[in-house]
Amino acid sequence: WLAVRPAAWVPELSDVRRWWPTLTPASDKYNRGVVGLATGSSAFPGAALMSVAGALGGPTGMVRYAGQVADEVVRAHPSVVPAGRVADAGRVQAWVCGCGLGTDRRAGEELRAVLGAPVPAVIDADALTLLSHGDLSSWLRQREAPTVVTPHDREFARLAGDQPGPDRLAAATELAAQLGVVVLLKGDRTIVATPEGTVWVNPTGTPALATAGTGDVLAGLLGSLLAAGLPADRAAVAAAFTHGLAGRAAADRLGGEHAPVTAPDVAAALREVVAT
Ligand code: AMP
Ligand code: MG
Repeated sequence: WLAVRPAAWVPELSDVRRWWPTLTPASDKYNRGVVGLATGSSAFPGAALMSVAGALGGPTGMVRYAGQVADEVVRAHPSVVPAGRVADAGRVQAWVCGCGLGTDRRAGEELRAVLGAPVPAVIDADALTLLSHGDLSSWLRQREAPTVVTPHDREFARLAGDQPGPDRLAAATELAAQLGVVVLLKGDRTIVATPEGTVWVNPTGTPALATAGTGDVLAGLLGSLLAAGLPADRAAVAAAFTHGLAGRAAADRLGGEHAPVTAPDVAAALREVVAT
């Protein structure tokens, strides 16, 4: 009967609706927020496309792509503005770094540029591997702008030294406190933990999301919410919640909960879920 671990908050649709940025007559493409993506590589162009598709499903007015496969990205998504490399990209109000980025020297330089930028950042996938290798993690601790790390269990183990174990709430909370960043621990019930000890459990997950590229869609969407000005904890909760709804909507459209949903289906469904 005694709560030995932090009580978890469960977000509702009304919370996410309340937090979601709204359009006004004064909206323009810049004041809605500009999100930048340092994602993808020639080995993993699809991760760039999926993260960009996720960002396009968010509330920002512009998506900028800083990565190695700009031609493919612009061919698939003509509204995306190429940004060269991270250090040269102007106006970006939040960064997404790591999906399919690789772990070579160039990838490390781009991660360093993202961590050094005074704007919110999402650190995912290969960027988590890079962090766990070097003194980049001390850089993370020094960073003042809001940061969200988005590990699945294996990436969590790279950061924390061990898998989350059965008490996922405690594991995520501990890592958030240790690194001083918001931790979004992915799973069937995705957890969002803040360094101050607040913890959320997302109720909208669906196994339809257990397919390649959906994590990249989530990272892009989260970046868009950060660029639009949501605080990191709300952005992470809203992204996980909406991503789950989109997974369900995509499965419904394709015939039910066991339908073969792909990451592009989830990204496409984001727009309807957000609008309705
Ligand atoms: P990643 O491993 O980076 O590709 O991310 C996978 C995404 O799918 C995350 O958002 C997970 O929360 C979600 N996901 C994976 N497996 C499941 C599952 N069995 N039930 C619900 N969500 C899942
Ligand atoms: Mg991933």
